[in-house]
Amino acid sequence: MLKITPILCRAGTMDNYAYLLTDKATGISAVLDPSEAAPVIAECKRQNICPAYIFNTHHHFDHVEGNLELKEKYGAKIVVGAADLHRIPGADIAVEDGDVFKLGESEAEIIRADGHTIGHVLWYFEKDKALFTGDVLFNLSIGGLFEGTVEQMYGSLQKIKKLPDDVMFYPGHEYTPYGLQELFGPAGDRYAARARERLSAGLPVAPIALGEEKICNPYLAPCNLAEFYQIMAS
Ligand code: ZN
Ligand code: FE
Repeated sequence: MLKITPILCRAGTMDNYAYLLTDKATGISAVLDPSEAAPVIAECKRQNICPAYIFNTHHHFDHVEGNLELKEKYGAKIVVGAADLHRIPGADIAVEDGDVFKLGESEAEIIRADGHTIGHVLWYFEKDKALFTGDVLFNLSIGGLFEGTVEQMYGSLQKIKKLPDDVMFYPGHEYTPYGLQELFGPAGDRYAARARERLSAGLPVAPIALGEEKICNPYLAPCNLAEFYQIMAS
């Protein structure tokens, strides 16, 4: 089983989340997407943890800028999607779609999800029902198309939609506030009420169950590419 701690980075500007993951059976830890080093180091110190790995979802600076400092401080190995091996600072190990990466006794399945970037990967801990979506899926929105096409993003979102409804997802940014105005209906009201409560307490809205996100996130609603094009154009 995994212990998951969100760490807010770049608070008030980009509002990134890094995540500290610890395999409870062995105590082996990893940091996912260390946007900056200082808040990650503070949390590691608080939990008395020395992470063995750094996992990245994609190469953008706001997900990897803490890599080198943390690698040097902890001797952590940096694990990235194969397409990013040459362009993520300090990258040591490449993983590909369908690979399983072991963190102690916990296991992450690697899901390639092009669109925001080419070679973006999702980290899916099936047994723990936890999915780290980087900049592909946010609460109530999705990441912009920096490198990929609308078709690729649609394909990536379909991979997420196929996962069970009780999987909890952990996005790369706190962008929930931007989507709250668009919510409607009883499910939307529930989502908004919970999100506002969490945000006003200074807590991450994540994690939310994929089942709830599938109902409330407008980008997960389309059932075909034509409908997805329409929502992307609106
Ligand atoms: Zn990004
Ligand atoms: Fe980002």
